[in-house]
Amino acid sequence: PKNDLNLIADKLPEWLEESRKYTVLGRPASYIPELAYAPAEALGVTVMGADGTEITAGDCGLTFTMQSISKVFTLLLALMDHGEDGVFQKVGMEPTGDDFNSMLKLELVPPGIPFNPLINAGAIAISSLIHGVSPSDKLSRILAFFREVSGDPDLTYNEAVYASESAHAHRNRSLAYFLKDNHVLDGDVEEVLDLYFKHCSIEVTCRHLARMALVLALNGKDPVSGRELIPKRYVAIAKTFMITCGMYNASGEFAIKVGMPAKSGVAGGILALVPGRFGVGVIGPALNHKGNSTAGVHLLQTMSEAMDWSIF
Ligand code: GLU
Repeated sequence: PKNDLNLIADKLPEWLEESRKYTVLGRPASYIPELAYAPAEALGVTVMGADGTEITAGDCGLTFTMQSISKVFTLLLALMDHGEDGVFQKVGMEPTGDDFNSMLKLELVPPGIPFNPLINAGAIAISSLIHGVSPSDKLSRILAFFREVSGDPDLTYNEAVYASESAHAHRNRSLAYFLKDNHVLDGDVEEVLDLYFKHCSIEVTCRHLARMALVLALNGKDPVSGRELIPKRYVAIAKTFMITCGMYNASGEFAIKVGMPAKSGVAGGILALVPGRFGVGVIGPALNHKGNSTAGVHLLQTMSEAMDWSIF
């Protein structure tokens, strides 16, 4: 593993600049208007070894919002709050093959629960499960959990992205009201949506993603203190969803070509991991038509092939 870190440190700048060429094949998301301002040609990466050693290359200082990547961690918090039985009454375990914001199967497939917790409908259902005595208490619990896993006590959400998402969330509102009608959502729909928009807008750098990925790679253990932050069984569930649904409806192709548990978000971030060994955070705001970072996916594929990282 030490040699691997040396090799990565040696090669990473070259791999990154090679992958940066792929940014021209995509563009930043614009359905949330604030995301369209992201630099399209940017690409950055942080790799964190099991002992916390960090290697970075490219635009790793760029801040961006987690978007769908946050769904992995709200799922984990909901599992800690309710256990598996409670969570899987509200969401299924299957990939959809549809777009991340689709409502097709909510109507067509009884009993109308979302297929999995990583599509928007499923993540909104998960947001409704987070314990707390008030909306602000629920948000505080989410932030406290994300801060602990990322190791950054100042982590918070980006006000402008949150406001932009909330103002343009017609489709997510439709999904949420549909879920309410299907008796999947308890409580106030707008409160649930507000919490969902806020956790999607949590602002990070690649370094935060690498550290959060490393906690998953270590089966829920804090890389520094060794303390258990998340029960191993729940991490296993999250990693399985990352393989089957983490890269939207390109998850199968990503599993074949890269073979790492990963989750992408529409701001261009990707969180990926090598079990027991590395956490990886990537940012490349230019997205392909499936919603994944063009250059980010290329970089992860390059690294996985060179380092033999596929779990398969
Ligand atoms: N907040 C985004 C949405 O709900 C998350 C989508 C994503 O990253 O895939 O549309």
